[in-house]
Amino acid sequence: MKEALNKLAAIVDGNKNLLKHKLGISNEKDEEVFAARRKVCNACMFRSAADKCIKCGCPLRAKTRTHKTDCPEGHWKTIK
Ligand code: SF4
Repeated sequence: MKEALNKLAAIVDGNKNLLKHKLGISNEKDEEVFAARRKVCNACMFRSAADKCIKCGCPLRAKTRTHKTDCPEGHWKTIK
């Protein structure tokens, strides 16, 4: 239950950061981190055609844009 809530919180946070990006009010350093993750996920064998991570089931557009989660395969980590 706690894991599901943490996953939900991460997805909500990632979507919030995506909205900030679209509004042009995002943090430049965060954008660099998110872009680097996106490159890794785009090339990953666990990325589905629907742009989800097959390992954790999260939508990558949100997962790559939050500091509340890590790659389940250890390809990138959140700096906490
Ligand atoms: S989060 Fe990790 S395992 Fe999932 S698609 Fe991205 S790089 Fe691959």
